[in-house]
Amino acid sequence: MMQKNIMLQIFTGGYLENNVTYNAIEEKICPLLQTGKIKGILIGWSIKTQVYEKVIQLVHSYDAECYLWLPVFSENGLLEKAEMLRDDTGNQVRSYALKEGENFEFYCPNQRNSKENVRHIYEKHFEKYTFDGLFLDKIRYGSFANGISGVFNCFCPACEKAYAKAGIDPAQLQAEMKKVREQREEYQKSPLGITGYVDGSYEFANPLWKQFFTWKSEQITKALEEIISYFRGKNMKIGVDTLSPFMAEFVGQDYKKLKGMVDFVKPMMYGITNAPAGLPFEYANLLQKTVPDGGENVRNIMNHILSIQNDSTTRMDKDFVREEVRIVCDHEIPVMCGIEINRIPGIVDVTPTYIQETMQELSKTQISGFVLAWDILSAPEENIEMLKNMIGKEN
Ligand SMILES: [Zn+2]
Repeated sequence: MMQKNIMLQIFTGGYLENNVTYNAIEEKICPLLQTGKIKGILIGWSIKTQVYEKVIQLVHSYDAECYLWLPVFSENGLLEKAEMLRDDTGNQVRSYALKEGENFEFYCPNQRNSKENVRHIYEKHFEKYTFDGLFLDKIRYGSFANGISGVFNCFCPACEKAYAKAGIDPAQLQAEMKKVREQREEYQKSPLGITGYVDGSYEFANPLWKQFFTWKSEQITKALEEIISYFRGKNMKIGVDTLSPFMAEFVGQDYKKLKGMVDFVKPMMYGITNAPAGLPFEYANLLQKTVPDGGENVRNIMNHILSIQNDSTTRMDKDFVREEVRIVCDHEIPVMCGIEINRIPGIVDVTPTYIQETMQELSKTQISGFVLAWDILSAPEENIEMLKNMIGKEN
């Protein structure tokens, strides 16, 4: 097996939660740190806990790096004033509640406070710690998991101006979105009239969609550049959480634009997660929210477009997952592939066998390594045993 770097992801809870102890973290990560194969950890984002500096010292004692994990265009409304996205009908985009502390509501990247909140939160609550870098999560718009409005945005006054600058007529976009909502004939065949998918990029019957999604990725990139430049000024390294290419375009993430901006990307290749960013979950939402009565027929059409051979509603086709990882690797950014290793019954039922299969399969790609996500603290002992086994084997 080829050598891959390993990073661990630790969720200390949402901003206002306080349910982890240093001892619990130490107990969970020490057996893995002792393998000598752990390159770093990503930890965040509760402000109610005092564990950070002790964890940093522990991780540094194993010559590994410590990244602070912070959400960017989501969650920050709990602590600061934030402007929600406006959809094509003028309404605020609803959040998707996974559990307490993580609300999956999304803020407009064209609003000044959306960009400044992450900085303010860092300065107020985290600057005192000696983190090596920032791991930026939710650098994106909502997805179809937030309903069709999660993608049909933003139409706030700041965005209206940005459309004008880009030569896009928002009224034309809104008219096309209305056709999708009303399921006019051309939008009953495939999501948004998609006709093809090549190297992580969609082809649409109406080129307006391409213009719209390109515009969205430009807004995210512009905002992200500003945020990254602030943290680079503090000598911090930068990693970012990203969606699998087949979902990235819909949320304004463009891997081409991330090249040179970040130290690594962590595509979330969560093959069995039944929650936002989970591949089967996001895929089901893409189909159901764009063509509600499409059923098996539209699913088959989309499977064909995406080259999904072994379709299952609970586990994404492993050949498709490997191909998606290949697409990310082609962008010449170090790829730390995110795989789920935790267990939350009904949401993410990871077994040791799943971990073994996934790591073996994805090790064949050009990734730099794996991030064991998204929360090592909720991984059962048998999963940790398998990880020790897999990591120990690699050299
Ligand atoms: Zn906006």
